[in-house]
Amino acid sequence: MEIQSITGMSLPELEALCVSIGEPVYRAKQILSWIYEKGATAFDEMSNLSKNFRKQLEEKYQVFQTKVDSIVQITEQPGCNQATSLISSHLQGGKAGGEITTLVSAHPPPLTPPTRGGGRSGGGAELLPTFQSPSQGKREEEGKNLAQKKRLLQDNKLDITEKFLIHLPDENVIECVLLREGRKITACVSTQVGCAMACRFCASGVLGLERNLTVGEIVEQALHVKNHLQHDERLTNIVFMGIGEPLKNYDNVVKAVRILNAEWGLGIGARHITVSTVGIIEGMRRLAQEGIQINLAISLHAPNDIIRSKRIPSNKKIGINNIIAAAREYFKTTRRDISFEYILIDGVNASKQDAESLARLLKGVQCNVNLLPVNPVEEFHLKPPSQETIEMFCKTLEKHGIVVTLRKRKGDNIKAACGQLRLQRHKFLWKKEELFVK
Ligand code: SF4
Repeated sequence: MEIQSITGMSLPELEALCVSIGEPVYRAKQILSWIYEKGATAFDEMSNLSKNFRKQLEEKYQVFQTKVDSIVQITEQPGCNQATSLISSHLQGGKAGGEITTLVSAHPPPLTPPTRGGGRSGGGAELLPTFQSPSQGKREEEGKNLAQKKRLLQDNKLDITEKFLIHLPDENVIECVLLREGRKITACVSTQVGCAMACRFCASGVLGLERNLTVGEIVEQALHVKNHLQHDERLTNIVFMGIGEPLKNYDNVVKAVRILNAEWGLGIGARHITVSTVGIIEGMRRLAQEGIQINLAISLHAPNDIIRSKRIPSNKKIGINNIIAAAREYFKTTRRDISFEYILIDGVNASKQDAESLARLLKGVQCNVNLLPVNPVEEFHLKPPSQETIEMFCKTLEKHGIVVTLRKRKGDNIKAACGQLRLQRHKFLWKKEELFVK
């Protein structure tokens, strides 16, 4: 029998469950308060529920169905591409927060196969570079480094990004990311295991689509991030920009958005939630009719069909003009500005002419453009443009009255950019299988 998770349930569903067990309706809100406010990850922690009720719940349900397998922490100075990383692995249960094991350099050693019997829970942490347990002196030094980092973070001088590799009940793994920009703390969540869109710049699409994530598996990513925060930090934003095309898992994504937004759930304001799409027109139309004031981001990445179809195969059927028309429609219905995501790739879509074409394409659309230099992914041999080219691209769009934000790449130098951890783990497991076959 499949055990269901509570995190995938709405308030009315949980109320119906409580009543079916013979408990009063208000128990549902007590359970939700334990999960979303107090960070409980097991029924055992819910001390105001009777033992008998907890036992009945445990027989058929679980609070969390996923667990954090490992966390890669990247510390960057704003405007600087140098990074150091801290790797924390083998965290317990549904809660992150285990001790940080060691400090490694920005250029980690090659992945090393584990010894047989080593590791646990599917060996997710085996993905990460092996390292020696630090000595007492080194631990003290690291403690000082962490305290120093936290001070700098509070002074807004450092960005700390943390990438979570999350273990699903069927042994698959996904990623979610915690991004800090001053007081703004964002969880970037995945919606599918892999992705069928196969965009030719994205590590997430390399392995194809395995399956959709359940509502609980999506919600739990945000909860893992929230439970990992320091007591003086607050999760303020959620972006659906991790692995997968959210609008290809429409029903689960919309239900997860409602849970994350609900007062009885995580209580994240709708205007602080962003769903990103490669341009699934039917999904965009449905989303506009949902009556939730969330933001829509469209991964455009090209100023015309010729360039876009080469990088995003699904564009051949959709067509860039139809996407822009759907974006206008979305704005008309929701009055919410659209964000266009544009990954800058040297020699592909980053010339002056491309910037001018993009400005023409977006003329009159209520929008802003987020530019992001491409993350190098070995499979695609792509590289970001020079700083001068990036600046030229920004200025050209601005000259046409377009609001532009230039985003920084996160973690690509330790293979921790979007989809890369998962891809690295799979490559490693393939190698391991080959070893065993021989
Ligand atoms: S960019 Fe988005 S839609 Fe394209 S392959 Fe990656 S995850 Fe899928």
